[in-house]
Amino acid sequence: MFCPHCGTQTDQNVNFCFSCGYRFKENLNHSNPSDTIEPKKNGFVFKLFGWIFVLTSLVFIPILFGAGAFIMGYLLKKTGVHNDTHATIIMVMGVACGILGTLLGMAAAGV
Ligand SMILES: [Zn+2]
Repeated sequence: MFCPHCGTQTDQNVNFCFSCGYRFKENLNHSNPSDTIEPKKNGFVFKLFGWIFVLTSLVFIPILFGAGAFIMGYLLKKTGVHNDTHATIIMVMGVACGILGTLLGMAAAGV
C-alpha cells in the first residue's frame, strides 16, 4: 500500500508510514463507526415513520395509519434487541390511536 499522506510505499502490516509517520490505524478506526451506524439508521427510519403514522392515525384514516404504525413497530422490532421496547410502544400506540382515531371520527360524523 501507499501512504495517503506522502505517497511512500509501505508494508501493509505496519500501522504508520516510515517516511512521514502518518498513522494508518487511525484511518481504519474512522471507517468502523459507519458500519455500526447503518443498522441504527434503519431503526431510526422505522421509529420516525412509526410515530408519524401514530400521530396521523388520530386525525386521518385511523385504520390505515394505525396499521402502518403497527407495521413500523414490527419492522423496528426486527432491527435488534436495543429497539425492542421502543418497537412495542409504537405497536401498542398504533393500535390504540387507530381505535381512538376511529372513535373520534365516528363522534365527529355523529355531530
Ligand atoms: Zn507517509
